[in-house]
Amino acid sequence: MATHARSALVVGLGIAGMASAIGLRKAGWRVTVIERAPQRRSGGYFIGLFGTGYSAAKRLGVMGDLHTRTPRNSKTWEVTRGGNRHKSVGFLDQPGEPHGVLRGDIEAALFQHLGDVEVRYGTEPTAIVDVKGGAVVTTRKSSTGEERSEQFDLVVGADGLRSTVRRLAFGPHDQFLKPLHAMICAFQLDEQVPYFPENNGIMLVEPRRSLWVFPFEDRPPTALFSYRTRDIDTQFREPTGTVLRRTYGPEPLGDILEHVFAQFDRTENFLFDSVNQVSMRSWRSGRTVLVGDAAWCITLYSGMGASMGLAGGSLLGDLLALNPNDIDAALSTWEDRLRPYLHQHQRTALFNAQIFTPSGPLTHVLRSGVMRLGDRKKPADTPPNALTRYLARPRNVEFVA
Ligand SMILES: Cc1cc2nc3c(=O)[nH]c(=O)nc-3n(C[C@H](O)[C@H](O)[C@H](O)COP(=O)(O)OP(=O)(O)OC[C@H]3O[C@@H](n4cnc5c(N)ncnc54)[C@H](O)[C@@H]3O)c2cc1C
Repeated sequence: MATHARSALVVGLGIAGMASAIGLRKAGWRVTVIERAPQRRSGGYFIGLFGTGYSAAKRLGVMGDLHTRTPRNSKTWEVTRGGNRHKSVGFLDQPGEPHGVLRGDIEAALFQHLGDVEVRYGTEPTAIVDVKGGAVVTTRKSSTGEERSEQFDLVVGADGLRSTVRRLAFGPHDQFLKPLHAMICAFQLDEQVPYFPENNGIMLVEPRRSLWVFPFEDRPPTALFSYRTRDIDTQFREPTGTVLRRTYGPEPLGDILEHVFAQFDRTENFLFDSVNQVSMRSWRSGRTVLVGDAAWCITLYSGMGASMGLAGGSLLGDLLALNPNDIDAALSTWEDRLRPYLHQHQRTALFNAQIFTPSGPLTHVLRSGVMRLGDRKKPADTPPNALTRYLARPRNVEFVA
């Protein structure tokens, strides 16, 4: 039996970090979270939360506080910039009856359940050193420059795609980031595109570039530009609006793109980034473990990043609770159990990327065929996989894939 509460440092107050913090707390651990930002973020972009995600959210006890915004009686339209439109299948029409939420909705629900977890904002790790039975982490507070070193039984790196924990404990980013040669820009619209009801989705998909408008039940949609390029560095050298207008030109934009660009010009709050998967042989090194995008970023194209962040954090707590005296065994089992699902989602993301943004004229034509088939067949509920079934079962039951 462990004689004292084990201590963990979680780096990152996103979905994976908070899910891990709640999972560890449920396992009886004392948890501290450090977050680089000066305060908790809100808002974000559209997220489709699938069965694995909401089973994990239920298991973490947060589902009751999750504000979902799945639009009722929603339609999705495939449109051209010339103004043609036809009905198609939307992101939330996929099997499994996903919920539509903002990223911030999931984070807000998780935050309410942190309990006595200590959260330190404006703080980052600067060094991680393995010691017997744990790791000593040096952290730096950005406002004062103050540094402190503390020992923890476990360090959880949940600090996203360009994880500092991964760099400190595993190696440089380029060793693990696998570029998908694509860029995305996501932001919230103030107003739906004219002549479309607020709960309708829109897809304007051309070879190598697309615009998606994701609807909600109770607020205006979010927009996503997604385009392919091999020249990632150049995309960051000019203002984002200039780069996007050039990418979606030189043809006339048409009414829909004009409306979305006009809204983009008015917002300061957007995410513009390259798309990368994270590929690692192992997500643990000594007493440091990576969770969420830091460990396995499966990208937005998989539609499962948030769900797997929730599942990963929840399962981490479960396995540490089942193996209180053997942290290494718990981490090893955790990794073995999750890895097959993450591999599968990373493969699926490569296919889905062609649905989001076809890589050329041929895949654009093939995509149209796939979408038409989808339109004719009413999607059935997916049979839940072993991970989803496990998450729906009582605690203290061993997970066997
Ligand atoms: C446009 C878009 C659409 C998406 N759609 C979906 C979808 O439909 N379904 C789905 O399941 N997933 C979707 N995803 C993926 C999903 O949003 C992510 O997988 C998930 O949010 C990742 O959570 P995370 O906690 O691992 O990382 P992050 O969200 O990146 O959080 C990391 C946290 O760590 C903090 N941090 C970073 N560096 C440091 C540091 N050095 N020190 C301290 N703190 C630090 C950050 O400030 C942040 O708070 C989408 C992603 C995008 C970009």
